[in-house]
Amino acid sequence: MQLTFRKKLLLTFFIYGLVLVASTAFIAFSYSKNSIENIIMDNAKSQFAKDKNLLKFYLDNVKAKLDAIKKSYIFQKHLDRNGYTDATVEDLFLSIARSDNFIMQLRLLNLKGDEIIRVDRNICYAEPYLLTYDKLQNKKMRYYFQEVAALPKDAFWFSHIDLNVEYGLIEKPYKPVIRVGTPVYKEEKKVGVLIMNIFMKKILEQLHSSKLYNTYIVDKDGYFILHPNPQYSFSRYKEPHVKLQDFFKNAQKILTQKEYFSNSLYAAKLELHTPDELTLIIEPTDEFLKSNHKTLYTKFFGMTLVILLLSIPISFFLSKPYAKLKNRVDEANEDLEKRIEDKTRELQELNASLEEIIEQRTHEQNILLSLFDLGDAVLFKWRNDEHWSVEYVSKSVEKLLGYTPLEFMEAKITYAECIHPDDLPHVIEEVNEAIEKRLYFFTHDPYRVITKDGKTKWIHDNTVIVRDEEGEVINFVGYLNDITAIKEQELKLQTLSITDSLTQINNRLYIDKVLQKQHYRLLRNDERCSLILLDIDHFKEINDKYGHLVGDKVLKELTKLIRTHLRESDVFGRWGGEEFMIIAPHTSKEEAKIMAEKLRKLIETHTFEDVGSLTVSFGVTECQKEHSLHTDIQTADKALYISKEQGRNKVTAL
Ligand code: GH3
Ligand code: MG
Ligand code: MG
Repeated sequence: MQLTFRKKLLLTFFIYGLVLVASTAFIAFSYSKNSIENIIMDNAKSQFAKDKNLLKFYLDNVKAKLDAIKKSYIFQKHLDRNGYTDATVEDLFLSIARSDNFIMQLRLLNLKGDEIIRVDRNICYAEPYLLTYDKLQNKKMRYYFQEVAALPKDAFWFSHIDLNVEYGLIEKPYKPVIRVGTPVYKEEKKVGVLIMNIFMKKILEQLHSSKLYNTYIVDKDGYFILHPNPQYSFSRYKEPHVKLQDFFKNAQKILTQKEYFSNSLYAAKLELHTPDELTLIIEPTDEFLKSNHKTLYTKFFGMTLVILLLSIPISFFLSKPYAKLKNRVDEANEDLEKRIEDKTRELQELNASLEEIIEQRTHEQNILLSLFDLGDAVLFKWRNDEHWSVEYVSKSVEKLLGYTPLEFMEAKITYAECIHPDDLPHVIEEVNEAIEKRLYFFTHDPYRVITKDGKTKWIHDNTVIVRDEEGEVINFVGYLNDITAIKEQELKLQTLSITDSLTQINNRLYIDKVLQKQHYRLLRNDERCSLILLDIDHFKEINDKYGHLVGDKVLKELTKLIRTHLRESDVFGRWGGEEFMIIAPHTSKEEAKIMAEKLRKLIETHTFEDVGSLTVSFGVTECQKEHSLHTDIQTADKALYISKEQGRNKVTAL
C-alpha cells in the first residue's frame, strides 16, 4: 500500500508521541511505584514502633505492679520472716488482680515453694478469686520458682511467652501466657517470691494483623509466637511446628540481624525482658500491595490513554504545514527533474555533434599523417625522456633512417641514438634552451644522423614543444627533412670559395681569414705565429720560355711539393701569381726560418717536369703583438724583397 507523505508524517508524529508517552509513563510509573513502596515501608516501620511500645509498656506495667506490691507498706507489715502473711495481703492481691483484667494469676510463694497466696482468674475479664488453702500447692520443682528464688533483691524475671500448661498438658483453648517474677525480702532477708501470670492473648491481638499489614513474632529459633494464621502461632509448642524459614526465603537474615528490611517486609528485635530474643515482622499484605498497584496502574493507564488520544489530533495538525511544504518541494523537484532532462538531452545532442566533429578531424588528421607516410618529410612524436623514445613516427622514417616505425615504437631504438655523437650535445643544448625560454616552436641547426646502415645524413628539424596543463613538457613533435644533398652542395661551394682553382690549395681569401684569426689569437692568448712569404725566382722567364701552360704545371708541382712537407697545423695558400704564404702557428721566427731553409733546399734540389730545376726566395717574420696585421705582412714582404735583392734563392728573416 502506498502511503501519502501526509499520512507517513502523521504516522511518524504519532509513533514519536507513542514512544514519548510510553517512556514518560514508564519513568513516572517507576518513580511512583518506588515512592509508594517507600511509604508502605515507612508505615511498616511506624507500625513496628507502635507494637513494640505496646508490649514494652505492658510488661513494664506488670513489673511496676509487682514492684509496688513488694515495696508496699501493708505487704511488708504483714509479711513474716518465713514468707507467710495474712488475709490483709490476700485482699491486696485480689485488688491488684481486679485492677488489670489481663492478670491471670498472682501468687506469693515462700522459699520452700509453697504457695502462700494465690489469686486466679479463669479467663480474661472474669472476676479474680482467691484459692483456698487446701488448693494451694508446692511449686518447688517448677522452673519459674527456681529461677525467681535465685534472683537478687531488685531483680525481675520474665518467662517466654508460651501456652499455659495445666497438669502437664497445654491447656485448651490455648492460653498464651507470660510469667513475671521477683524475690520478696523481709528486713533484708529473702523470704519468698512474687509471681504474676499474664493473659497475652488480648495483648497479642492488639498487634494482630490488619488488612494492610501482617504481623509476625518469632523467637530466636524462628518458631512463631504470633502468626496471621492463628493455627501457626506458638508453633514451638504445638503442631504444626512451622518455622519462619518455611514462609520466608530471607529468614536467616531476619533472625540474625538487629534490623532487616526488604521491599516486602520490615523486621527488628523487640528487645523485651523476655529471654526469647523476639523478632517482630511487619509485612504489607498482598491485598494491600495489590490495591496500591492497582491504583497505580489505573492512574497511569488512564494518563497514557488520554495523552495517546490527544496525540492523534496534535499529530494531525502538526503534519499539516509539513505536508504542504512537501508538496511544494515535490513540485519544485518535478520541475528540476524536467530541466535536468532537457539539459541532458541538449548535452547528448552536443556530444553527438562533437563526436561527429572528432570523427571528421580524425579523418582529416589521418589524411595529413598519410601525407607524411607517403612523402619524404618525417613526423616524429617524442616523449620527454632521457633518450627521446618515440611515441609516433610516420612511415617515411624508414626512408630516412632505415629503421621501421615499429622498431622505434617498440623502443628497439631511440631517437637520441640516431643522432651523430658529435652533434648530440648541441642538439640537447638547443632543446633545453627552447624549454627554458618557454618556446612553443623552434628550429634546430642542421645536424647529422646515422642511418641503420651507418650512413651519415643531414637533418633539418622543426620542433613543437607539447606541455600539459601544469606547463610540464610531455612531448616533442618534430618535422624532419633530409637536407644531405643541399648540405653537401653547400660544403662543396664553401670549399670552392676558399680554394685556389689552379693549385687546389687555399686561396688569398682564406689566407686573409686565417691571418685575421691568428692575429686575434696573438692578441688574446699570446699565441705566437710566424709568416713565410715565398716567390718563384724569374718565373716570367719560364713562362716566356716554355709557355703559360707549363708555367701553370710548374705552379701545381711546386705547391704539391711544399704541401707534402708541411705540418698539419700549418696553413698554406696562394698569395697571388707565383707568390705563396705559409702561416705557421706556435712557431718562432727562428723555427720559421729553419723551416723556410728546409723548403728552399727541397725546391732547389727538386727536378720539375719540363723545366728541370728552379729556385724560390723566402721572406720570414714573426707576428708582433704591437704590430698591425698589415705591418707584419709588410715585414714579410720586405724580407722577401731583401732575399731577391741579395741574389735570390735566399731566406731572410726580419
Ligand atoms: P723575380 O725573380 O723578380 O720574381 O722575377 P719574375 O719574373 O718571377 O717576376 P715578375 O713579377 O717580373 O713576373 C712574374 C710573372 O709570373 C709574370 C706572370 O706572367 C707570371 N705569372 C703570374 N701568374 C701566373 C700564372 O698563373 N700562370 C703562369 N703561367 N704565369 C703566371
Ligand atoms: Mg718571381
Ligand atoms: Mg712575383
